[in-house]
Amino acid sequence: MIPISKRLQKFPEYIFSKLAKEAKKVELEKNRKILDLSLGSPSFPPSKKYMDKLKEFIDTSGSHLYAGYGATAEFSQGIITWYKTRFNVDIKNDELFPLLGAKDGISHIVMALTDEGNEVLVPSPGWPGFTGPALMMGCAVVPYNLTEENDFKLPLDEIRRKITARTRMIWINFPSNPTGQVATLEELKPLVELCKEKNIWLLYDNAYAEVAYDGYLSPSILQIEGAKDIAIEVGSFSKMYSFAGFRMGWIVGNAHVIAALAKVKSQIDSGLSNPLQALSAYAFTNPDTIWHKKMISKYEQNKNKLIKVFTELGLTMRNPKGGLYLWAKIPDRYSDSYMYCRELLKTKHILVTPGIAFGANGDRHVRICFSSDITHLSEYI
Ligand code: PLP
Repeated sequence: MIPISKRLQKFPEYIFSKLAKEAKKVELEKNRKILDLSLGSPSFPPSKKYMDKLKEFIDTSGSHLYAGYGATAEFSQGIITWYKTRFNVDIKNDELFPLLGAKDGISHIVMALTDEGNEVLVPSPGWPGFTGPALMMGCAVVPYNLTEENDFKLPLDEIRRKITARTRMIWINFPSNPTGQVATLEELKPLVELCKEKNIWLLYDNAYAEVAYDGYLSPSILQIEGAKDIAIEVGSFSKMYSFAGFRMGWIVGNAHVIAALAKVKSQIDSGLSNPLQALSAYAFTNPDTIWHKKMISKYEQNKNKLIKVFTELGLTMRNPKGGLYLWAKIPDRYSDSYMYCRELLKTKHILVTPGIAFGANGDRHVRICFSSDITHLSEYI
């Protein structure tokens, strides 16, 4: 056979595509649809106000043309306005860039910032999107542990110990996927100081900034004075406005990093389309707060229902302040998280994600997504 890249051996298949195949097999064997609580797909339909606007933007003359490689003037103005009103942070034109979803920036930024042999610190458990691209680029991935004993908070001493001369960047994600834990500015400040002291890039994944409960308001890392010297922040419309399939996100922060990522992306894609940049700008400046409240309230109801159901099934979990997931501990009788998921799939036709997918530290947990459509939950339990 003609060879394919050896690079593929450096990283595993993306866990969610692997699981989807297993679930399809069970569906076919049993001829019954499974209840999919594995993927973080937002089932709540987007606001009609935005969908109507999108149609209008598509019908605008020139909407089909290349948008160019960077931000349109209205996108820039939109994000600048939103960061000022939401976080009281000033963003300049060279400190922002539109993304084709947060994953676009998260995967490609490794090409912009690292050299082969560099080390990238990632949370364990943490979103697998931080790990694969780093491995692909020939970096070593160094996990830091978010543990139950430490309330899934940042382990600053451990991070300090794990920084070496080869460390180039560190990923932080709050509200966290998968733990649902959040971080305050006071907790983040020492990390900003540490990254400055050690001269490493701090990458803050704020994809769930607008998905929080009980009135909790997530901060931006850029609220910390001087953070822009070493930090960038990635944001996403996927969960904030249920635009997951549209692929809309952004990156803000250190201008040097933004320019480096823009250079990489200029070789990879041709920019976020005009209608989607226009929709981003519109959504930034016209937040649909009524719709957003309804979405949060729906997810909160789902969350409470699923906490009840899975607690009755013998799992233990906290009620998360942010994000879309329950991080639930499996009973001792299961040897690992995959074993639990397989049994749940076979006996109840419910698919959840094994914690091992989020790092070795996750193998006594499973992740249960509460933004899934659970209208028919009672038929499965
Ligand atoms: N970051 C985290 C922590 C996520 O959980 C996800 C998606 O699940 C993403 C980024 C990707 O977001 P997007 O859909 O904007 O690419």
